[in-house]
Amino acid sequence: MQFENTLAFAKKLDATDPLRKYREEFHFPKVNEKEVIYFTGNSLGLQPKRTKKYVDEVMRDWAELAVEGHFYAEKPWWDYHERLAEPLAKVVGAKTKEISVMNTLTVNLHLLMVSFYNPTAKRYKIICEEKAFPSDQYMLQSQARFHGLDPNDTIVEVKKRSGEHFWRTEDIVAKIDEVGEELALVLIGGVNYYNGQVMDMEAITKAGKAVGANVGWDLAHGVGNVELKLHDWNADFAAWCSYKYMNSGPGNASGIFVHERYLGRKDIPRFEGWWGTKKETRFLMKPEFEPMENADAWQLSNAPILSVAPYLASLELFEEVGMLALIEKRNTIVAYLEFVLKEIDDEVAESTFEIITPKERGCQLSVFLHGQGKSLFNYLMENGVITDWREPNVIRLAPAPFYCSYEDMYRFGQILKDGILAK
Ligand SMILES: *Cc1c(COP(=O)(O)O)cnc(C)c1O
Repeated sequence: MQFENTLAFAKKLDATDPLRKYREEFHFPKVNEKEVIYFTGNSLGLQPKRTKKYVDEVMRDWAELAVEGHFYAEKPWWDYHERLAEPLAKVVGAKTKEISVMNTLTVNLHLLMVSFYNPTAKRYKIICEEKAFPSDQYMLQSQARFHGLDPNDTIVEVKKRSGEHFWRTEDIVAKIDEVGEELALVLIGGVNYYNGQVMDMEAITKAGKAVGANVGWDLAHGVGNVELKLHDWNADFAAWCSYKYMNSGPGNASGIFVHERYLGRKDIPRFEGWWGTKKETRFLMKPEFEPMENADAWQLSNAPILSVAPYLASLELFEEVGMLALIEKRNTIVAYLEFVLKEIDDEVAESTFEIITPKERGCQLSVFLHGQGKSLFNYLMENGVITDWREPNVIRLAPAPFYCSYEDMYRFGQILKDGILAK
């Protein structure tokens, strides 16, 4: 398609966008009484209007039924979380039984490492990407120390090549082969939070499994953004938060994937609690743990319903629309955003910015600002463009296909140009 950087063209794209009506399903914050241009769906997705109903329903059942709500609420609380597994399985390419919803992301990664990181004297190393998301770095370091290991010797980071802004799959695979028999675990962000790169999860998983390591994925930026086939890729485990592209609300429940080969087993290490034991016998309060036959075996506590209910509401939207339609729009809107950025770069005199996101991308473009710095970022924010800033000089733009419009992209370009020229 031949793009044009005009309002009329952007409006034409909106008019033929099959997802256009979904914009109405979300609450938009306002700046200067105008709906913002929201580029931070990769950080906190907008609130679906239907979420309130789900939360209100729990509040009502709690008020009217109190403890009886566990079994007699419209959606009983004791197995409320089970409703999320099927729609989530479609989003991440898994079998329903391989999915559970619980806790928050970093907590879940720690819990999954209890099962999937069991270092021995020989096989103890962990491969991750350099400059992984800080929480992941702290998690890996503290896990190494917990096992009495030196993080510097245990954690092997795959670097980008000098002068390049992305990781090469061949370098990751080469590192996996090199560490080989010493490699216990590969744990990488499936979509990098900083440069927006989509890793070749299939190839990396295959390489990790081939040397006998476990392979897990942090999908904070992957879920609801890119096509995932966790089961077919043969990943051992994965976890994600739900408040970024999945719009479930601040800090709300996380999801996990555990490959079916680990389900129904008592012989794998796992931290256990009463919500992981078989529900048929749970309330007999017996001392023996009988793991649920699905990924719910990793559940510890009764579910935080007020944190799970918004996730169910947002999953209903994903169920309606489907990942393929979202990905189709995502590809077009990101391409249009890139086109607008290039047009604006040509219109202002000197070259001012550089897109550091490689072609293997999802929803996010990370833009390196040459010499513009934080003043431009502030100008954008003051003019209703919500984006975010990462040191040293990068703004991240993620036009979520659920609710961003092509007109947003055009208007953003105009504000950006004004901001650069105003300097
Ligand atoms: C957002 C994000 C997290 C957040 O972790 P929480 O435990 O939900 O606070 C972790 N890892 C990555 C890669 C992220 O992008």
